[in-house]
Amino acid sequence: MNAVAPVPGTRHDDIRWQRGARKQFPIITAQPDAAYLDSAATSQKPRAVLDAVHTYLTTSNANAGRGTYPWANRTTALVERTRARVKEFLQDPDPDRSSVHFTGGTSEGLRTVARDWLVPHLKDGDEILVPFTDHRANLEPWVEAGRLLAKRGIRVSVRALPVQETSGDYDHRAFEKVVGPRTRFVAATHVHHVYGGDMNIHRLRAAVGPDVPICLDAAQSVGHCPVQVGPGGLDVDFLVFSGHKAMALPGTGAVWARNVRGTAFRPGGWQGTPNTVGIVSLLAALDWLDEAGVERIERWTAGLATRLTDRLRHLDRYEILGCPTSLAADASVPPAQRRRGIVSFRHRDIRSDDLGFILYSHGFMVRADSLCQAGAEETDGVVRVSLHVYNTEEEIERLLTVLASLA
Ligand code: PMP
Repeated sequence: MNAVAPVPGTRHDDIRWQRGARKQFPIITAQPDAAYLDSAATSQKPRAVLDAVHTYLTTSNANAGRGTYPWANRTTALVERTRARVKEFLQDPDPDRSSVHFTGGTSEGLRTVARDWLVPHLKDGDEILVPFTDHRANLEPWVEAGRLLAKRGIRVSVRALPVQETSGDYDHRAFEKVVGPRTRFVAATHVHHVYGGDMNIHRLRAAVGPDVPICLDAAQSVGHCPVQVGPGGLDVDFLVFSGHKAMALPGTGAVWARNVRGTAFRPGGWQGTPNTVGIVSLLAALDWLDEAGVERIERWTAGLATRLTDRLRHLDRYEILGCPTSLAADASVPPAQRRRGIVSFRHRDIRSDDLGFILYSHGFMVRADSLCQAGAEETDGVVRVSLHVYNTEEEIERLLTVLASLA
C-alpha cells in the first residue's frame, strides 16, 4: 500500500496515524474498494460515535430537560455536557457569557440567527453585508430577513461582500467601498464549500472594525481544521456549524453565540424536544476529533488536496475552480491561505453529472452538480472531491489515473 509517494507536507508519523484513524470507520473498512470523496456533504462516522449512540439508546434514552427519573436526568446532563464541550472544542475564552443552541445543521442555525437575533436588531436605513457566492444556506436567511423587515416598513440594504473572481476569496481591497457607518451585520464563510479556500476572516474583521457583529458559517471548517473563537482567533459573534459534517449523526449542528453586544442570542418560540441522540453523537464526535487531532486532519487532507490539484492542473481538458494561491503546501504559503481538503473542477467536454457517473463506475463517490452555491446554475455543474481523515493517497492516485484516461 505504501508504494505511493507520501502526501506533500505530511510528517513521517502522519502515515501510520492515518492508517489507524481510517480503521476506526466501519463503513470504510467494510467496503475498502469504495472511495468516499464527498465529506463536504457529510462525513462518515467513527466507531466511537456509533458506540456512544448505541450505549445511550440502550441505557439512558429519555427526553431532556423534563422528567425527574435517572434516565431523564442522565439525558439532560449529556445535553448540557455537550453544550460545554462545544465551547471547549471552539476554545471559547468566555464560556460563562456565550451560549450554544443545538440545531439540525448549518442551514437551520443561520436561519435562526437571522430570524431571532438579526431581525429584531435592525433599524430603518441599516446595511448588512452578506456573501452572494457562498453556500445558499448563508445567503437566503439574510435576504429573507431584509424582505421581512421591508414588509414592516423598515428598509435595510442587503449588500454583497466583494469577492475576488479568480480565487473566490473575499476581496479585502474592496471592503472599504461597502463598509460604512450604517453597516450593522456581516455574514461570512470560514472555508468555501466549492473552492476549499480559507476566507481570511481576520481581514474581514480588520475591515469592519471591532463593533460590527460577524456571523460565520463554519460548516466546512469545524472538524477539518482548528477553529478558535474569540480574540486572537476568529473574532466573530456567531459561529454556526453542522455536527453531521464533523463525524456526528445527521440532523445535528449548533449555533455558538458570543453574546457580547446587543441582547443575548435566544432562539424564539417553544423549542420542543431536542435531538438527544444526535447531541450525544456530537459529544462523542468532538471527543474523537480532539483525540485524532484536528491539526493533523487538516495537514492530511490539505496534503491530499494539494497532490490532486497539482497533478490535475497539468491534465488536458480540466479546469480547477478557485483558490490559485493555495495550490502548494509549501512553507512559504501561510497556512490560512492553503486549500483545505476540497477540490472542485470541470472537464471541458464531459458534463459533470456524466463525469460523476463515470467516476462512480470506478468506485469514486463525488459530488457532481451546482453544489448549492448561491448564484450558480445547474448547468454550471462541477465535480467536487472533498476529503477527510479516512481518505488515502492511494485513492487520489487511482482517481488521477481515471481522470487522466479521460483527458
Ligand atoms: N454552509 C456550507 C458552507 C456548507 O457547505 C453546507 C453544506 N453543504 C451548508 C452551509 C448547509 O449545511 P446543512 O446541510 O448541514 O444545513
